[in-house]
Amino acid sequence: MPTPTTSGQRPRTCRACGKKFEYPVKGNPATRHHCEECVTLPAETRKVLEKLNTRISQLELQLRRLQPKPAAPPAAS
Ligand SMILES: [Zn+2]
Repeated sequence: MPTPTTSGQRPRTCRACGKKFEYPVKGNPATRHHCEECVTLPAETRKVLEKLNTRISQLELQLRRLQPKPAAPPAAS
């Protein structure tokens, strides 16, 4: 079902490349889910990028979990 689009500009994250972008911007072809660079890509290419981007996001999440909490400030040299 269609959700009513708000006219206010909000930062969006591109599904394909993960870039943060403003939407909507006058004269900018970016869509709600894709930045102006990825919106021109063929759908199949974008699909692959979206898959990879999802994997990268998951890996980043796992990486963050694995990293020890920065409890102590870096030792002064
Ligand atoms: Zn993009």
